[in-house]
Amino acid sequence: MTYVVTEACIKCKYMDCVEVCPVDCFYEGANMLVINPDECIDCGVCEPECPAEAILPDTEAEAEKWLELNREYSNVWPNITRKGVPPEDADEHKGEPGKFEKYFSSEPGKGT
Ligand code: SF4
Ligand code: SF4
Repeated sequence: MTYVVTEACIKCKYMDCVEVCPVDCFYEGANMLVINPDECIDCGVCEPECPAEAILPDTEAEAEKWLELNREYSNVWPNITRKGVPPEDADEHKGEPGKFEKYFSSEPGKGT
């Protein structure tokens, strides 16, 4: 089992999650984060920290389709362990449907 980041993170990226992860298994893309499923120890502490409710355990049906995306990009994007500055328009995109199709970028973030 692992936790995964869903499209709800796209363009929100508040990064409250990375500060609490005991094994630093978040990775940063240009406009979202992902979790490395092989490094995640399923502690669950990140889930309630996310204001966008973007983090789900992979036991939830909604999480399943995001698992491969988390696996794939956590292997190519840089590790992020410290909270950065969220985008100015983050709140405008909170809860917006269909963000993956509209905004997903495979470009890496900066990492910390
Ligand atoms: S707190 Fe939630 S929305 Fe923000 S970066 Fe983490 S997973 Fe994404
Ligand atoms: S469940 Fe725990 S180990 Fe996994 S990403 Fe969240 S904080 Fe990190």
